[in-house]
Amino acid sequence: MEILHVSAECYPMAKAGGLADVVGALPKYQQELGHIAKVVMPMHRTKFLYDNEWEVSHKGSFNMGKNYYEFTIIKEKSNKLGFDLYCVDINGLLDREKIYGYNDDAERFTAFQIAVLEWVSRWKHIPDVINVHDHHTALIPFMLQHCYAYRHISSIPTLLTIHNAQYQGWMGWDKATYLPAWDTWRWGLLDWSNVVNPLASGIKCANKVNTVSPGYMQEMMYHANGLESLIRAESFKCTGIINGIDYEVWNPDTDTYIIDNYSYLDVEEGKHLNKKKLCDDFGFDIKLPLFVFIGRLVQEKAADLLPEAISRAFMESEDKFSFLILGSGEPWVENALSNLQHTWFGYYNSQIGYNEKLSHQMYAGADFLLMPSRVEPCGLNQLYALRYGTVPVVRRIGGLRDTVIDFGDEGGYGICFNHASVDDIVYSIKRGIELYKNKKQLKAMRTFMMQLQNSWEFSAKKYIELYQSL
Ligand code: ADP
Repeated sequence: MEILHVSAECYPMAKAGGLADVVGALPKYQQELGHIAKVVMPMHRTKFLYDNEWEVSHKGSFNMGKNYYEFTIIKEKSNKLGFDLYCVDINGLLDREKIYGYNDDAERFTAFQIAVLEWVSRWKHIPDVINVHDHHTALIPFMLQHCYAYRHISSIPTLLTIHNAQYQGWMGWDKATYLPAWDTWRWGLLDWSNVVNPLASGIKCANKVNTVSPGYMQEMMYHANGLESLIRAESFKCTGIINGIDYEVWNPDTDTYIIDNYSYLDVEEGKHLNKKKLCDDFGFDIKLPLFVFIGRLVQEKAADLLPEAISRAFMESEDKFSFLILGSGEPWVENALSNLQHTWFGYYNSQIGYNEKLSHQMYAGADFLLMPSRVEPCGLNQLYALRYGTVPVVRRIGGLRDTVIDFGDEGGYGICFNHASVDDIVYSIKRGIELYKNKKQLKAMRTFMMQLQNSWEFSAKKYIELYQSL
């Protein structure tokens, strides 16, 4: 079958978080299963854009509100990612450096979705399914069915994949004039709590909806940032499919970002050399257990708890340990985490910002990866940690609950706790420190974790089954 993925991000073209990893990997695995998978995304001015060659696939134009836009669809020439990657270029709107964070994001992503439909509506054939990802592309199911211009392609089935329901793309009703002429008596399909809510609209209009773990699907019925009742009402068409990871990109045996490659057969030596590099770079004692946190410094990830939790763990623990942070987000959290460097010099360090290479080095060199998330639809960091033999220390929530079993339970290999609280984090760090003393047990766990199967192979098949059910 032919699948068109529509997304704001796709690794390695543009990445802000897990969405990029998924959209950069799932289509590749779908191709390997014998299907045709394509990705279309906005043209962000990233390194990947300049490092690769592109050809023009289509040119078109449309009106959005009072404005007229011309757009160009460009395609990466060499099929570098293992599937066709297309980008939409719109002068002044979709040719910027950052993926999100502009005041006119509502205009930008609405224009992106219109351009995609304008393009698809001129294909000689139609794709078998359009898989839209998150709110930036969630108006497509509505537009396909209720904008007059797309009536002839309205039979294309759609799947909405929710990677994170916290962000919904809310916009005032004045922005509804951006959509190409539509059945206005269908306004209820756009509305949620008196604003246009693209994610809610996607949930109402897509043929099916999935989230990125079964656990998160269940939780969304009770915690979905205001959409709980909608999720419950539409639950008959909702399902959860756990994310996989790209075993080609995330493989300690071949990873070119890390200092020493290793597999589960030589995990101890491999991790030691990678840890040495991190400890040298950040001023830590290699003999101490090394904890890391990688991610967006936002409430969802409970990053606001880290400054107090880390300080208390340093003060309360009888044994010493090191802690390294990589992330960016809320300015006050960034400042608080940077300031800790002075208090716990030699044991704590932080790198504020986004750094793909360092993240790989941290998965490889750390002993423990902390994820105290308040909300975690799937979480990829814990899956990368497992693959690199790093013990995940996670809160039992969403996808974390689905993928990590506490080492105190049968068949367990991680450290789990129940609450996003300072007490639970401190207690779990102490458990990690104790585990670190038992070298034999730690080695057995590392070897076991690295052999767990979390590849996309299994989940890519589940997506195909879901498309077929449309
Ligand atoms: P999110 O909710 O942010 O999408 P996920 O766990 O699904 O969380 O995915 C996070 C992805 O982003 C992982 O690949 C992680 O390594 C990466 N990441 C997050 N923050 C950073 C950073 N500051 N530098 C490098 N990579 C990062």
